[in-house]
Amino acid sequence: MTFLGMPPVAPPGVGHLQGAEAFPAAARRALADSQLRANLAKATSTIRAKRARVVGELPDWEELRAAGEAVKTATMARLDEHLERLEAEVTARGGTVHWARDAAEANEIVAGLVRGAGATEVVKVKSLATDEIGLNDALAAHGIAAWETDLAELIVQLGADRPSHILVPAIHRNRAEIREIFLREMGDVDPGLTDDPAALAEAARLHLRRKFLSAQVGISGANFAIAETGTLCVVESEGNGRMCLTLPRTLITVMGIEKVLPSWADLAVFLQLLPRSSTGERMNPYTSMWTGVTPGDGPQQVHLVLLDNGRTAALASGTGRAALHCIRCSACLNVCPVYERTGGHAYGSVYPGPIGAVLSPQLTGVERNSSLPYASSLCGACYEVCPVRIDIPSILVELRARHVEESRQEHRVPSAEAATMAAAAWVMGRPARFRAAQRAGRLGRLAGRRGRIRRLPPPLAGWTSARDAPVPPAQTFRQWWRQERGGS
Ligand code: SF4
Repeated sequence: MTFLGMPPVAPPGVGHLQGAEAFPAAARRALADSQLRANLAKATSTIRAKRARVVGELPDWEELRAAGEAVKTATMARLDEHLERLEAEVTARGGTVHWARDAAEANEIVAGLVRGAGATEVVKVKSLATDEIGLNDALAAHGIAAWETDLAELIVQLGADRPSHILVPAIHRNRAEIREIFLREMGDVDPGLTDDPAALAEAARLHLRRKFLSAQVGISGANFAIAETGTLCVVESEGNGRMCLTLPRTLITVMGIEKVLPSWADLAVFLQLLPRSSTGERMNPYTSMWTGVTPGDGPQQVHLVLLDNGRTAALASGTGRAALHCIRCSACLNVCPVYERTGGHAYGSVYPGPIGAVLSPQLTGVERNSSLPYASSLCGACYEVCPVRIDIPSILVELRARHVEESRQEHRVPSAEAATMAAAAWVMGRPARFRAAQRAGRLGRLAGRRGRIRRLPPPLAGWTSARDAPVPPAQTFRQWWRQERGGS
């Protein structure tokens, strides 16, 4: 069965962090943290350069992007059919498919499966879908400990922190901070641990080894699922994912319904687009694929939880559907001037950066994330690097319009901005009024330093609270036109 024929279910708290404050306040605090800004600038500039180098090697990169977009568009148009095919193929090969309408349902399903396997511990592959539904906390409430095994996720978990990047969740931490966390939280760590990356990785490896060997249940997300054979695919760089996917007897995969691809030929496109866009590599060091159960080899209980959690509702709108094309590569985060300065926590969502500003309002509603569509300079860098050509700036503009419209309907009394805009429209509606306003306003006489105005009076003060305005030229355009061309 699929959800696509059902009315959309309001998702409780999809990807939205409880108690998250609005972006402007959170961003202001992040901007004051110079260590955070230095960590982010170093990390994003390194990944940006790597990506640009490997993308530049491919003369047909733009054709690949167009192919990725076309595959996603065609898949979304018949998503129900592909999901039913996926379910049939996974089931035919010994796996079990579960459908979860929202986070609560998905968490209950997973907790029930872990309990059914008689386990009180699970090892996890890095997974945004499980972050989105808050699975670790839900399992903890059932007395089940979930151990993150991706190095960056482990750092976040041990530091009682939150991920701040899709691909590099601990991007806001530097080596010295990571060493401190390990010394503080890993009971079995060498007290002489240095902040050398190899030493830190070795400490994590030793810490995790026992978990891998003892865990009865592994939990993963999936980068892709291939409907024609029921095959699931995870790509990663560290090999921890391969351990989680092969060693435990039970494997549970939680996957958003938009991750399905019709065929292996489609996967070939994305296995070229994803690594270059995400880690700046030509191919992922580990590409793991599994198809149902193979007797005597790997997990003997294989479960797939197909997660809706607001996706069906997003699919129903043009902008929401485009956002669902995202393959979570994080290229848009690494080029975003806003993300580079604020980091991921300011977005208050599991999905930060430009794609978070687009995805979170689509999944949990514009009102709940009303400041996120404004967390962008609309410079267009995200669109240029997106491997599936999601036009993020246009979607943000549409979300802003939707937010303004919803606010207008909600508040009978117009906001200061709405009143100012209405007055401006009235003034600009007639040439005579505009001329009179120019004379009366004497805008050309506003004082500024070095051609900039630092502070405008209310109701325009909001505009200059975070930016300068240029001093208007002494001569208006009309005056210039008359002077150059004559006439009125
Ligand atoms: S929106 Fe595009 S660039 Fe950003 S994470 Fe998704 S696929 Fe990558």
